[in-house]
Amino acid sequence: MKKTYHGSCHCAAVRFEADIDFAVGTSKCNCSICAKTRLWKAIVKADALRLLQGAEMLTDYQFGSNTIHHLFCRRCGIKVLGRGHLEQLGGTFYAVNLACLDDAPADELLQGPLGYEDGRDNNWGAAPAETRHL
Ligand SMILES: [Zn+2]
Repeated sequence: MKKTYHGSCHCAAVRFEADIDFAVGTSKCNCSICAKTRLWKAIVKADALRLLQGAEMLTDYQFGSNTIHHLFCRRCGIKVLGRGHLEQLGGTFYAVNLACLDDAPADELLQGPLGYEDGRDNNWGAAPAETRHL
């Protein structure tokens, strides 16, 4: 069931809310940036994400194919969101950094399957051989 959760960066300059159905599942990836940030994420459609505060504090980092905008707080450095546009994900989407949610209990975060993506090998449809460190 979809619920509205609230999130923020560490210094709380950036605040957002997101409508997430955790039964759909969450994911982790081993690509170069997810590996360094240990990102645990939920993907939501553009209309399920509302930035409540701090748009001017968000800095946009892109690399490689520039497919994803990695949005982080210029003050505290916490990446709160990724934003991209991929037809296979239904158009514009956000990757919500679940570590930034302030009101999502662990049992709700974990109610769906945890998926893995082998982004390091550009094999996004499959899980890497090793996932324990992600
Ligand atoms: Zn901040």
